[in-house]
Amino acid sequence: MASVCSLCFKHTENSNHLFLNCIYATSLWSWFSNFFSITLDNSSVISLLRSCSNHSNKQLVQVLIACLVHTLSKIWFCRNQKIFENDSTPLHLAINAIKRDTSLSGASAKASSSAHTVQDLITLRSLDIALNFNRAPVIIEVIWRTPRVGWVKANSDGTAHGSPGHSGSGGLFRDHKGSFMLAFSNYTNIQSALFAELHGAMHAVAIAANPASFVVEVQEGYSLLQFSYITYIYREGNQCADRLANHGLHSRTNLIWSTIPNFIVNDCNRNALSLPNYRFKND
Ligand SMILES: [Zn+2]
Repeated sequence: MASVCSLCFKHTENSNHLFLNCIYATSLWSWFSNFFSITLDNSSVISLLRSCSNHSNKQLVQVLIACLVHTLSKIWFCRNQKIFENDSTPLHLAINAIKRDTSLSGASAKASSSAHTVQDLITLRSLDIALNFNRAPVIIEVIWRTPRVGWVKANSDGTAHGSPGHSGSGGLFRDHKGSFMLAFSNYTNIQSALFAELHGAMHAVAIAANPASFVVEVQEGYSLLQFSYITYIYREGNQCADRLANHGLHSRTNLIWSTIPNFIVNDCNRNALSLPNYRFKND
């Protein structure tokens, strides 16, 4: 024989009734929704979780999920107290216990947010939880450096729209004055960004090893063979190659330039003049 719900004595007990539909549970979810000023969909446990994770404040999401778990656990505890101890827990005592437990869990929430609203502040303060703010970003100056006299510098990059998605690679060669020598861009089909980046680097090495097979007219005196060591530069210092990779992706063609394409003139000039770009790091 199916047992009757020990919290309302009106319906058959099953997990959906006990945790979601029982008057005891719905009263708790209604308090939850008012307390955090959020719309709570209590049609299933998954939809409850989704309602909590949708919040824009990451710190509050952790607190909401902690409160959700404590509420479910309190419903189970109250049901057992009634069955095994014949002890009814009034709603206000259950709410106080949930708030106390959430406050303890919330105090160790590590997530931070730079977008706290006044409502977030009031909610977190009422649970005695301190606000975690994002730390000020570390600012890194990124400068593209010309290679040593007699050396040629190649910069390459790859990009993909999706993983995998349409992708492209690109790169360019510059001399010790930062002057343009040649550039390439390729469409690399449906691939990941990592594939496109490696493709760009390998294509640059292939051109450096044998420029004559790629360029119809190689200016006399240029040898790209000095290309022999590899370093890494932040995206902020690699805009020319980034633009070329994007050109490959969008044009869906493979191209090689022996005169500078218009869309990288500005960035090339900035690089040649050692003008800085800035990278903002949030940690
Ligand atoms: Zn019930």
